[in-house]
Amino acid sequence: MQLVINNLCKTYPGGVKALDNITMTIPKGMFGLLGPNGAGKSTLMRTLATLQTADSGSAKLGDIDVLKQHDEVRRVLGYLPQEFGVYPRTSAVALLTHLAALKGVGDGVRDRKAVVEQLLERVNLTHVRHKAVSTYSGGMRQRFGIAQALLGDPKLLIVDEPTAGLDPGERNRFYNLLSEVGESIIVILSTHIVEDCKELCTNMAIIHLGQLLYHGVPEQAENSMSGKVWEKAMSKVELSALDPKLKILSSKLIAGRPVVRIFSEWDPGQGFHPVAPNLEDVFFVHLKAG
Ligand code: ADP
Repeated sequence: MQLVINNLCKTYPGGVKALDNITMTIPKGMFGLLGPNGAGKSTLMRTLATLQTADSGSAKLGDIDVLKQHDEVRRVLGYLPQEFGVYPRTSAVALLTHLAALKGVGDGVRDRKAVVEQLLERVNLTHVRHKAVSTYSGGMRQRFGIAQALLGDPKLLIVDEPTAGLDPGERNRFYNLLSEVGESIIVILSTHIVEDCKELCTNMAIIHLGQLLYHGVPEQAENSMSGKVWEKAMSKVELSALDPKLKILSSKLIAGRPVVRIFSEWDPGQGFHPVAPNLEDVFFVHLKAG
């Protein structure tokens, strides 16, 4: 099963074009939707999750018309929104059991109990299953979020900016969990963190101002820029006097000293040396051209 999106458009009442003719196909596996804040990621995620409408275009998940057959989509969809509320003082077991009942998961109480236990094991929360979810750390909460999204064995899992606010250890555990889920179903991960795509995703898209700027394989995107990324460490004075014709991709402080990366088809001279492109370079090249 794959998700085929064609010419999807959405303009908000205020006039913001949040989706501007988005066309792409999303296969099984981890798919990264990368874009800065305001790019249109949540609008796309929410539209695919049947929580809001598009103005025109289509989205089909296998035979299901995502924009019209909402009930059918919801039966095969798992969704982890950016923010999800939890009841205070309710344990993970109790909350997940409640959500399972709401979703009609399991034939009876015993069956449901087994499903809940399996899911909590899968997201590695068995040892804290009787603690209130409201007391969980950010990473544990997100793993609980995945458990609730996986109720009912979805074919499509949508996670909106899931790693924001997680510390590196938590982020790693979360990556491992997601990539395991991505082995058998379509997982769409929206993020503004380039690292998320690089570590996890077999396919990705870059969107900005509602437009699709790139769609493909992260590694190929990097390779396509081979020989065109150049770097130089310089003083802050040099940085402020940099040739304005240079296409600057990024300027970062490394050990307190600015390191500038630029895009150039040929040797820019001026002390720049060639470096291997990374996904962040790809992201910035597309944002600046877009
Ligand atoms: P992202 O998730 O990439 O940050 P969003 O989809 O939330 O992007 O937003 C895309 C654009 O649409 C932004 O300019 C945002 O301000 C605007 N927007 C989002 N939701 C609404 C809304 N309900 N009404 C009007 N404008 C909105």
